[in-house]
Amino acid sequence: MLDQTRGKNTTIILGGGLAGLSAGYVLTNAGFGVKVFESDSSVGGLSKTIVKDGFRFDLGGHRFFTEDRGLNNFVKELMGKELIYVPRKSKIYMRNKYFDYPLKPLNAIFGLGISTTIEILLDYAAEKIKNLIRGPQNISLEDWVVSNFGRKMFNIYFREYSEKVWGIDCSMISAEWVARRIRGLSLASAVKNAFFKLNGKDVPSLVDVFLYPQLGIGRISDRLKEDIEAGSNSVLTDSRIERINHSDFKVESVVINKREQFVKENGIEFISSIPITKLVNMLDPSPPENILTAVSKLRFRDLVVVAVMINRKRVTDQTWIYIPEQKIPFGRLHEPTNWNEKMAPESKTILVAEFFSFRGDAVWSKSDEELTAIAVENLENMGFIKKHEVIGSNVVRVLNAYPLFEVGYEERCDEIYEYLGRFRNLHITGRSGMFRYYNMDHAIESGIKTAKKIIKKMQDTRCRIQDEEKMQAKNHVS
Ligand SMILES: Cc1cc2nc3c(=O)[nH]c(=O)nc-3n(C[C@H](O)[C@H](O)[C@H](O)COP(=O)(O)OP(=O)(O)OC[C@H]3O[C@@H](n4cnc5c(N)ncnc54)[C@H](O)[C@@H]3O)c2cc1C
Repeated sequence: MLDQTRGKNTTIILGGGLAGLSAGYVLTNAGFGVKVFESDSSVGGLSKTIVKDGFRFDLGGHRFFTEDRGLNNFVKELMGKELIYVPRKSKIYMRNKYFDYPLKPLNAIFGLGISTTIEILLDYAAEKIKNLIRGPQNISLEDWVVSNFGRKMFNIYFREYSEKVWGIDCSMISAEWVARRIRGLSLASAVKNAFFKLNGKDVPSLVDVFLYPQLGIGRISDRLKEDIEAGSNSVLTDSRIERINHSDFKVESVVINKREQFVKENGIEFISSIPITKLVNMLDPSPPENILTAVSKLRFRDLVVVAVMINRKRVTDQTWIYIPEQKIPFGRLHEPTNWNEKMAPESKTILVAEFFSFRGDAVWSKSDEELTAIAVENLENMGFIKKHEVIGSNVVRVLNAYPLFEVGYEERCDEIYEYLGRFRNLHITGRSGMFRYYNMDHAIESGIKTAKKIIKKMQDTRCRIQDEEKMQAKNHVS
C-alpha cells in the first residue's frame, strides 16, 4: 500500500510569503513532501527586501518583534548571526515639528501649547464620564479613539493619519483593529507608561528594540526557502495559482500559470496563504452566491512604495517617521541605513516613502517618474533633502498590503471561514489568507500551526492505515 505521508509533493502551498514558507519549512523538517507556488519572481510577499544598485529597502520598514519566546527562538535559530538588534526611534512629523510615536501624551500635549492641552484634558474627562454613564460604544475606529483619548486628541492625532492609511472615513473603520493594534494604550495608561515602566514591561506598541536581519527583512523568507530546498522540496516562483479544483469539499488539484504555461498539480493537503478573496474566486466549482457576495465586500488597501537614493551618508536618525497631514501625500517614511548601514553603499543613503492607495486610483496610476518627482519635492519641502542630492529611485506597487477592516467585516469573514472550514484538506493561513491584521510574528506562527495540524493529521492517518493493515494480516492468517 502506498504510504501517502511519505510521498513527495504531498502538501501544496499557495503563496511564498512568511506564512506559506514557514508552513513549508516545518513540514520539510518533519520529513514531508511540499511544493510552494509563488506568483511573484521572488519569495517574501509583503516582507521582502528590494535590491537595486547596491541599495536595499523593505516594502515599508519591517521590524521583527514577538512576545512569544518559542517564535523568537524560531527566527533566531533560522537566522543565526545575520540578526542584529535595532533601537526603535520613531516620530510623528506634524505642523513642522516632531512628536513621539507611539504617541506619548505628555509630549503630545505639551507640544501643542497650554490652551489645547486644557481642551484635551477636559474633553478626555467628559468622555470618561460619558463612558461611566452609558458605557463605551465602540463600533468604529472613531468611537474607540474618542472613548479612550477624547475627541480633541482624535481630531488632532488620529483622524488624518487613519484616513490616509485606510482611505475611508474613520466612522467606517471597525473598532476591532485599532483596539488590537494599540490595546492597552489609553490616555491614562500611556501617561502612566511615560512616568513608570513597571517591571521594565511596556505596553505592546511601545517596544524600544527590535530584531532585524542585517541585509533586510526579506532574508527571513530567503532562509526559509533555502532550508525547504535543502530538504529536497521545492519553492517555485513565477507560478501563479489560477484555479482550485475540488469535489465534495475536497481539493483535488490546483492549476498553475507558469509564464502562460498551464500545469495541473495534484496534492493531498492544500495550504492557502494567498488573499482569501482570490482563493474563494478561484474555487471550481464556484462557492454559493452568499459566499461570493460576502467575499466581494472584503477589500484590501494597497500601497505604493517610492524609494529615493541619496548622495549623503544620512538624512535622519529615525527608524520610522509618521506623517499624518493630508497635505503631504505619503503617510510614512523610513531610512533603511538607520536600521543597518549595509542597506546602502558607503556614504550614501536611501529614504523610502509609503503612499497608501487603492489599485487604479490617482496615486496608483501615476508613472514612476511622476511619483518620484512628488516624493522628492515633498522631501525637499520638509527640509530633508536637496533635489541635486538624488541619485536614483525605485517605485514598487504593492497589492493587498492591508486587509481593510470596514464595519461589518467580522460577520462576512465568519461566513467565509465557516464555508472554507467544510473543506477536509484546505487550510487557510497568514495575513491576507485569513484577512487578519497579522504582523510577521503572527504570519509565521499561523504557518507553523497549520503545518503542525497537517503533520498530526498525516500521522494519525498513517497509524490508522497501519492498524488496518495489521488487522487485515491477522484476519488473513486466521
Ligand atoms: C507597509 C507594511 C509594513 C509592515 N511592517 C511590519 C513590521 O514592521 N513588523 C511586522 O511584524 N509586520 C509588518 N508588516 C506585516 C507583514 O508584512 C505581514 O504580516 C507578513 O509579511 C504577512 O505574510 P503572509 O505570508 O501572511 O502574507 P503575504 O506576504 O501577503 O504572502 C502572500 C503571498 O502569496 C502570493 N500570492 C498571491 N496570489 C497568488 C497566486 N494566485 N498564486 C501564487 N501566489 C500568490 C503573494 O505574492 C505573496 O508572496 C507590515 C506590512 C506592511 C504592508
